[in-house]
Amino acid sequence: MPNCEMCGRRVEVLKRAKIEGAVLDVCDDCAAKGEVIRTPYVGGQWGVRTVQPAREKVVVEYEVAAGFGKIIHDARKEREWDVKKLSLVLHAKESLMHKIEAGKIKPDLSFAQRIEHALGVKLVEKVVEDEDDGKSAGSGRGGMTLADFVKVKKVKK
Ligand SMILES: [Zn+2]
Repeated sequence: MPNCEMCGRRVEVLKRAKIEGAVLDVCDDCAAKGEVIRTPYVGGQWGVRTVQPAREKVVVEYEVAAGFGKIIHDARKEREWDVKKLSLVLHAKESLMHKIEAGKIKPDLSFAQRIEHALGVKLVEKVVEDEDDGKSAGSGRGGMTLADFVKVKKVKK
C-alpha cells in the first residue's frame, strides 16, 4: 500500500493534490487541505484523469534581446554617433539612452523597434514556447528561440 506523502499514513487510494504550492500524492484527509488534481491512484496506476488532457500550445512572443545595451552601443559607435545624436534621432532623452546602453533600462518593444530602424540593428527577438502541460517536463523552450537568438547575435556587425 502506498504512503501519503503528507502525513505518511498507509492508505489504499492516494489522490494527487496541490497543497501549498507542492504537488503531492496524499490521503483523503490531506487532499482536503489542498486542490485535488488527479484521483484515484491505485496500485501504481492513475485512474480517471480529472484534469484536462495535455494539449500542445505554442506561445509566440516578442522580446527585447538580452544584450540590447551592447548591441545599441556598438551600432552607435559604428556610426560614429554620440549618445546625444542618437537621442535626437529617437526623440528620446539623452539620459535615457545612457541608461539603455548601460543595460539599466530595457526599452519596450515599440521603442526597441525604433532603435532598430535608427541603427539598423536587430533588438527584438521572437520567443516561441512549446507548452505541453508538463508531459515532457524539463524539455524547456523550443529550438526556434535559440535559432532566433543566434540570428540576433550574428546581425551585430
Ligand atoms: Zn495524509
